[in-house]
Amino acid sequence: MKVPLTVGDFLDRAALAYRDRTAVVDEPGATAGLGAITYQELEARARGMALALDHMGVEEKERVAIVSPNAARFLISFYGVSAYGRALVPINFRLVADEVQYIVDHSGASVLLVDPELDEALASVTAKERIVLDGRADAELFAEAPQGRYPREWAGDEDSTASINYTSGTTARPKGVQLTHRNCWLNAAIFGWHTTVTDRDVYLHALPMFHCNGWGMPYAVTAMGCKQIVLRRVDGEDILRRVDEHGVTLMCGAPAVVAAVLEAAEARRQRGEAVPGQGTARVVVAGAPPPTRTIQRIAELEWEFIQIYGLTETAPLLTVNRAPHEWDELDVGERSRRLCRAGVPAVGVRVRRAEGGEILARSNHVFGGYWAQPEQTAEAVVDGWFKTGDGGDIDEYGYVTITDRKKDVIITGGENVSSIEVEDCLYQHPAVAEVAVIGVPDPDWGESVKALVVLSEGASATEQEIVEFARARMAHFKCPRSVEFRPSLARTATGKLQKFKLREPYWEGQERRVSGG
Ligand code: AMP
Repeated sequence: MKVPLTVGDFLDRAALAYRDRTAVVDEPGATAGLGAITYQELEARARGMALALDHMGVEEKERVAIVSPNAARFLISFYGVSAYGRALVPINFRLVADEVQYIVDHSGASVLLVDPELDEALASVTAKERIVLDGRADAELFAEAPQGRYPREWAGDEDSTASINYTSGTTARPKGVQLTHRNCWLNAAIFGWHTTVTDRDVYLHALPMFHCNGWGMPYAVTAMGCKQIVLRRVDGEDILRRVDEHGVTLMCGAPAVVAAVLEAAEARRQRGEAVPGQGTARVVVAGAPPPTRTIQRIAELEWEFIQIYGLTETAPLLTVNRAPHEWDELDVGERSRRLCRAGVPAVGVRVRRAEGGEILARSNHVFGGYWAQPEQTAEAVVDGWFKTGDGGDIDEYGYVTITDRKKDVIITGGENVSSIEVEDCLYQHPAVAEVAVIGVPDPDWGESVKALVVLSEGASATEQEIVEFARARMAHFKCPRSVEFRPSLARTATGKLQKFKLREPYWEGQERRVSGG
């Protein structure tokens, strides 16, 4: 027998096995927050959402976009949209109106859901149906379905697209990564397996849900009936408070989340206050390798540190680094040093290093292709191997270390920035003759965006003007944090910018050419 793997399986099971248990605690004080809802209510609301979409005439496979910080409604949408045969398009809530409009248009989303706090900033963004998540306009969409009422039946095809996650890559515009139900299902199961998610876990949504569907962990913790705590904005003390209040045992995040936790823990210690989570909390980190010292400080809190590596295109789990029992006897410094690597392939994943050092991967988590960009898909998957664009080493035990990036992407605070997109924007400035955008190490953000600018003859501009110019046009996390003016930029004989050479001086003395702060 072969039963299609669909993300609805996760919520169906939880609603059956854990029906009266709290499923999600929404952000307290958020506009139209839903408070605490049980798994039975979560299922009824997801079903209610699908009924409402039926009623609105939204067809199977049609796209529903959502732009929102973490929220209970976002979690409901993972199921209310995807589990009934439509595709969810989660959009980074830090993007500006034009960037959001591009994604809505490119994905062809007919419905756009907008967080009330973003409504004004995104006022110009249009879609066939634009619905603000304010508890009024979306009242029908998020109402519980009456018992026994079911949406239009969906046959359940595991190869159909559950979500389209736009990610900045090597092109000026973000690409839509189509994750199939099968991708999401297997990623969740294997991620949950490696991080030992059980029904006793309490999960904190410290990672944005838009980012690769919160890396797929929301699916895994739903399947196990875990209590889920929504966090709208990352703040270290706020995280500690919730660990205390709800007994949080698991969270995921970029290295910046870990840094925020450590800072707040230090402040607590100085105030003579206890730090919660000792011996119970574990934190899964990806996006960039945090420094060994950071990992060691997490160990000193008696929180468990787990590193994973992957990409939106791989749903994302490729490798995992979780201390095996053989490391128990090691001192904390050595254990932390070992945890600094990206890890060994997760179950069912194969990785290899191509000539030149690029890491290639083969797995059931590898995406269904870029939305409406077949050429880009063909470039990414060659002879059955997915090209990660990351440079790395693999040791004899299979441990992967990411050492470099072959692609022109900067990762700052856990989010991808396409250098080309920033360059495109800065080229519109009248004083800019040439520009190269590079990532440089940054203690807070891992890497930060730097622009090297050659001014047009006779023109003048200040660093601040260039930064302001970008900030008026792009999401702020993409904008240069620093600008340097140069008489010329290093190029190859064929006129190509030599990014590697331009980056090199800033990375001197660093072991790797990627940084998590
Ligand atoms: P995204 O698609 O936004 O999730 O970004 C994926 C990229 O993040 C990868 O291609 C890597 O460059 C980087 N990345 C993710 N996890 C790690 C890690 N553990 N170590 C180093 N780089 C990472």
